[in-house]
Amino acid sequence: MQVTLPFSVDLKGKVAVVTGAGGVLCSMFSRAVAQCGAKVALLDRNEEAAAQVAREICAEGFEAKAYRCDVLDRAALEQVRDSVRQDLGSCDILINGAGGNNPRATTADEFLELENVQKDMTTFFDLDPAGVEFVFNLNFLGTLLPTQVFAQDMLGRQGCCVLNISSMNAYTPLTKIPAYSGAKAAVSNFTQWLAVYFAKAGIRVNAIAPGFFVTQQNRDLLFDQQGNPTPRTEKILNSTPMGRFGEAQELIGAVLFLLSQQAASFVTGVVIPIDGGFNAYSGV
Ligand code: NAD
Repeated sequence: MQVTLPFSVDLKGKVAVVTGAGGVLCSMFSRAVAQCGAKVALLDRNEEAAAQVAREICAEGFEAKAYRCDVLDRAALEQVRDSVRQDLGSCDILINGAGGNNPRATTADEFLELENVQKDMTTFFDLDPAGVEFVFNLNFLGTLLPTQVFAQDMLGRQGCCVLNISSMNAYTPLTKIPAYSGAKAAVSNFTQWLAVYFAKAGIRVNAIAPGFFVTQQNRDLLFDQQGNPTPRTEKILNSTPMGRFGEAQELIGAVLFLLSQQAASFVTGVVIPIDGGFNAYSGV
């Protein structure tokens, strides 16, 4: 299944490494960059998911290869980098897509009410430090470590860049998910830090901040078993001036723009919200 590109950019001869490439959004980004001519290394802890996407990309006549890799394991990242160099070439583009939340770092309540503490409900006081650490590590270290390993390939070469995935949570935290919100704020902050650090080395570093897209990982929060919107969905849609969820496909334009050396040669350190106006709206 090919994705519909809003426009094409020329990524011929480039090697793109995508982490979390077996997932919903990053499998689509992988397909898009492959369709623009890049050779794509699909990295995921879930090797079968990445391999399935790689098979589909290759069946369409584009170039891709899957690698099992945990973004928190530096030694494994280095091994995979060596394999990617041999199989496809040195990395020109890194998309840091692996990320997500965890129930152990999620409160059941939006606001603290004394009776919730007394009831058997997971409040802020019950959050598992190991769950908080898991979410911080996955989203923040899981962005930093692959960059340490793959950006070494970019040194002394032209037109290389890193793309991180932030979130609406980075601007204003959503209720219930303090660790995910804090970790994505760290990803946005790190994007700016790294853009400055790499500026004289010619490596551009940017991020996208997706708003609300219905994917497998959040479907149960957004719709009940009958498919009706939950109260959280109503809140989201009321807070989104465009009044609808985004279609995952609508992220591709910003991704390709930021990856394109021709289109975005002077763009570094930005985080582009793709959110139907959610971040601009105060609710009044
Ligand atoms: P997803 O769960 O479909 O994909 C995430 C992928 O990352 C999975 O294939 C998983 O196996 C892989 N992964 C998890 N831990 C890993 C690890 N330690 N090492 C290697 N791979 C690992 O999620 P998605 O919705 O496609 O999200 C992709 C990115 O976009 C994430 O960073 C997420 O936080 C971010 N994001 C998603 C949304 C949304 O609405 N879905 C909104 C904003 C930001």
